[in-house]
Amino acid sequence: MAEPLVGVLALQGDFEAHARVLRRLGAAVREVRVAADLDGVCGLVIPGGESTTMTLGVRREGLAEPIAALVGDGLPVLGSCAGLIMLDRAHLGLMDILAQRNAFGRQIKSFEADVAVAGLPGGPLRAVFIRAPWIAEHGPDVQVLAEVDGHPVAARQGQMLVVAFHSELSDDDRVHELLLDWARRFVAGRGRGAAAAGVISTRGRSAERTHRLARRHV
Ligand code: GLN
Repeated sequence: MAEPLVGVLALQGDFEAHARVLRRLGAAVREVRVAADLDGVCGLVIPGGESTTMTLGVRREGLAEPIAALVGDGLPVLGSCAGLIMLDRAHLGLMDILAQRNAFGRQIKSFEADVAVAGLPGGPLRAVFIRAPWIAEHGPDVQVLAEVDGHPVAARQGQMLVVAFHSELSDDDRVHELLLDWARRFVAGRGRGAAAAGVISTRGRSAERTHRLARRHV
C-alpha cells in the first residue's frame, strides 16, 4: 500500500525536522503554506515554533477554515509545542483545551525529561521541551496522556494528538508512528465509500461546529 501523504504546516517553526522524521518512516510529505496544499493530505502536523507568528500566517493565508473542515472530516492531526497552542480554544479552536504558553517559565528555555505517554507501547519517551506550554484547562472529551509536575503535556481528542514537547527532535519516532497509523486508517475509511456514508454525515455536522469555532477564534 502506498504511504499516506502527510501535510506539515510550513509557515514558520521547525517543520523541516517533522518532514524528515515522517520521510524516514516512509511517508510522503507536503509542506503546507496555502490552502491548496491541503488537498489530498491524510494527516497534518502543526510544528513547534512561535504561535503568534504562526497565527498571523494562518490568518494571512486563510488556512483556519480549510483545516477545520478537514479535521471535521476526521483528518488526523499532530500538534507539537506551538502546534499544541495552535489547536487550543484561543487559537484554531479545534481542541477543547486551553494552553498556557511558556508554562515552565521563560527562563527555563529547554529541558529534557522521560515522559510516560499513555497508549504508546515501549515505556517512557525521552522528550525535549523548549519554552513549552502545558494544558491549563481541558474539557471532558480530552484524554490526558502524560503529565510533568502534575500538568498535562500530552493529550488526545478524537484523532487529534498534542504534545507540549518536540517529538521530532529525539530519535524516538513513536509519536509520529502513531500519527501515520491514524493516517493509514483515515485513508482506509475514506476508501470505504458508500458504506461509510453514515459516518461522513455525522462528521459533517462536527465540521460545521469546528468551522464556527475557528471563525470565532482566529
Ligand atoms: N513558546 C512558544 C509559543 O508560545 C512555543 C515554543 C515552541 O514551539 N518550542 O509559541
